[in-house]
Amino acid sequence: MTLTHDTVCGLRAAVALVNSAEEPQTLRTVEELDDWYADQGYTGRRDGDQAELQALHALRPVLRELLTSDRDRAAELVNGLLAEARAVPQLRRHDGLDWHIHAVPADAPLDRRVAVETAMAVIDLIRADELSRLSVCADERCEGLVLDLSRNRSRRYCSTTCANRNAVAAYRARRSGDAS
Ligand SMILES: [Zn+2]
Ligand SMILES: [Zn+2]
Repeated sequence: MTLTHDTVCGLRAAVALVNSAEEPQTLRTVEELDDWYADQGYTGRRDGDQAELQALHALRPVLRELLTSDRDRAAELVNGLLAEARAVPQLRRHDGLDWHIHAVPADAPLDRRVAVETAMAVIDLIRADELSRLSVCADERCEGLVLDLSRNRSRRYCSTTCANRNAVAAYRARRSGDAS
């Protein structure tokens, strides 16, 4: 499966946004939102106020549902999000980025652009029947989302913290097994 650069960016940004609601919470302040925005390569309008931050917080459960739904439900949710935002896909080239799709104007509120950007990215996963690239973290105490774009589909944990914790637990289990 080959996903375009903007699809990969859209999925990564959405997963990071949803996971920011997990403990320890991130994206609690406008400054943390600045970091997310810069890290995820978003461009366009930024209000930099509490209202914008809260709109993104409110978007997290919406995106979580989209990214964890089965294919038919995800298709319904994508259609709903695009209709609600009155999305009109347009090819754009800007800031050194080659032709890619923007479906809402760059001056639309950030939460609406993130919703549409995510919906557009999920379209590619639905069409390629690759929604299995998204899962919930294999750590039993963690609800973080995992985006696995690796060739051998080896990613099971949302973060290195979760991966390490489980590696240590598995090691201890093996050790205590050896001792008995
Ligand atoms: Zn762009
Ligand atoms: Zn996790």
